[in-house]
Amino acid sequence: MNSQDFERDVRAKLAETRTRLDQFLQLPDSASFAEVLGAFDAIERPLNNVAFPPGLMSSVHPDEGVRDAADVLEQEISQFSTELSLSRPAYERLAALDPQDAADDEERRALEHALRDYRRSGVDKDEKTRARITALREELVRIGQDFDKNIVKDTRKVVFAEGSAALAGLPDDYVAAHPPAADGSVTITTDGPDFLPFITFAERGDLRKQLFLEYTNRAWPVNDKVLSQLLAARHELAQLLGYDNWAAYVTEDKMVRTPGAVQEFIEKVAALAKARMQEEYDDLLAFKRRTDPDADAIFEWERAYWVERLKAETLSFDSQSVRPYFAYENVLQGVLSTSAQLYGVTFRENLKADRWHESVRCFEIEDGGKLVARFFLDMHPREGKYKHAAQFDIRRGVKGETVPEAALVCNFPAPKEGDPGLMLHDQVTTFFHEFGHLLHHLFSTEHRFLRFAGIATEWDFVEVPSQMYEEWAWDHGVLAQFARHYKTGESIPSELVQRMRKAESYGRGLNVSVQMFYALLSLSLYDRDPATIDTTQFMLDLKAKMLPFPHTPGSHFQVSFGHLHGYSSNYYTYMWSLVIAKDMFSQFKRDLMHLPTAEAYRAKVLSQGGRRDASELVKDFLGREYAFAAYEDWLKE
Ligand SMILES: [Zn+2]
Repeated sequence: MNSQDFERDVRAKLAETRTRLDQFLQLPDSASFAEVLGAFDAIERPLNNVAFPPGLMSSVHPDEGVRDAADVLEQEISQFSTELSLSRPAYERLAALDPQDAADDEERRALEHALRDYRRSGVDKDEKTRARITALREELVRIGQDFDKNIVKDTRKVVFAEGSAALAGLPDDYVAAHPPAADGSVTITTDGPDFLPFITFAERGDLRKQLFLEYTNRAWPVNDKVLSQLLAARHELAQLLGYDNWAAYVTEDKMVRTPGAVQEFIEKVAALAKARMQEEYDDLLAFKRRTDPDADAIFEWERAYWVERLKAETLSFDSQSVRPYFAYENVLQGVLSTSAQLYGVTFRENLKADRWHESVRCFEIEDGGKLVARFFLDMHPREGKYKHAAQFDIRRGVKGETVPEAALVCNFPAPKEGDPGLMLHDQVTTFFHEFGHLLHHLFSTEHRFLRFAGIATEWDFVEVPSQMYEEWAWDHGVLAQFARHYKTGESIPSELVQRMRKAESYGRGLNVSVQMFYALLSLSLYDRDPATIDTTQFMLDLKAKMLPFPHTPGSHFQVSFGHLHGYSSNYYTYMWSLVIAKDMFSQFKRDLMHLPTAEAYRAKVLSQGGRRDASELVKDFLGREYAFAAYEDWLKE
């Protein structure tokens, strides 16, 4: 596929979309409820039929020309979506419908959600208010970009005059990558690959502290003001839209519904983790006292270091030692065959499908001999490609029109001469995680309404199927099926999996507590009038309330906490999804390959997309409301 074909295809579909909007607006007054609703849902369907969506192409296409064209097309599509979401005539046509005329719950829900989204965009407000809303939204794009950029731009350097002695404790490849300069000094930056190993392994605590202070002062002081602007603009926007504050606005369409429920959730999880957190903290302190008898605290720049030291002494687990069992192709076949067995479907590679790069592979899913979905795997790094791991939608499954399609984009080691692409277990877990997202999209099929097709569920439910599928990567029975030593063919020993699990659970109480501190900070900055907030003092007070580590004077972590832009008040979502994932997984606990349970999970949850509220899907699957018991067990593991 070249750049011209790609552009022509997307532009033609976009033009058809505009035509459909016009047709919708010109529907005669006599049109029935179902006709109006159907025509509204059909507006964006042409875009569901582009060969490859611009959002994906801009992240993966090897040709820079195509990537640039994709960026432009993406903006054009987003411009259209904004126009549609602010179309007063479209809103009025829908608002004139009588919900009583809906033939069933799904029609009623489709109307309700469309109207809710219109209301949330402010389309029902008077002209002056709408102008201010538009201005604020534009301003927020700029402020948000500034906030992110200031963090990325501010890579700091610390020059250690101690030279190589500063690197004592660090792995050999790290030391080799940081040779001393002509004057004998060694420079370390605050970028992740530099910072994380240093804060974890460097023996000199005073140097770790120095680097930690630089790290927690990225974007300080410049982002102090930008953060205040971000909070203020969002607060004003929320109030114009009729909400008390930003958190009330952005939780409304989530499972959680209200800021109060987020607060309750955070407090509950923090309380559940507290005993373990304290125990782990005391262990670390006792361990530290063996070399520093007068120590009375573990400081922030010491946590990773002492956790690592204590873990090394008690567990003797090296994450590199499992790599020979995880050759890429074995893992791929393992993920496919585990999924095929669980859901009774067949995966067939399609060698003829059109692809954007020769290394990309296309697979089709057949169920009972029928094609039900198609996906692409773009799994290895290359120049100009997206750097993380994610699932990208290609098409959503609309009844009579399209089977769902999606792509997984990852950066796992590629097999090459003499090296079969040995993966870390972390990466194997990521593979299962992303495949969980993929199956959620691909099994959401045969939809009447485009708006409910695919992973069209509440945002705080999205990480349930993915985090749940990670469990399969931790089970010896599942791993033994495919994790074979690439030289000897020996299956991964159960004892090794046990140690791997132990190592993973280490420090869990502290980790959960730190996550809940982030979640509380994210919520608390957005659930009140920000005019009165001094973000530094605020962060400090919350930390004192949530964590045992004394604050490091002079640090300003909040201004480089990028999620305060992207997640805003909703950093709680991952943990929220995890609680539900643990409970739903408990249904598989005795047998991860229990087919009737998998079938029920697929039918009652995965296949449903956004047809019903996530809480109802969960209840339908569990036969009760979800509970915290399984999550509590996990916290004790
Ligand atoms: Zn995910």
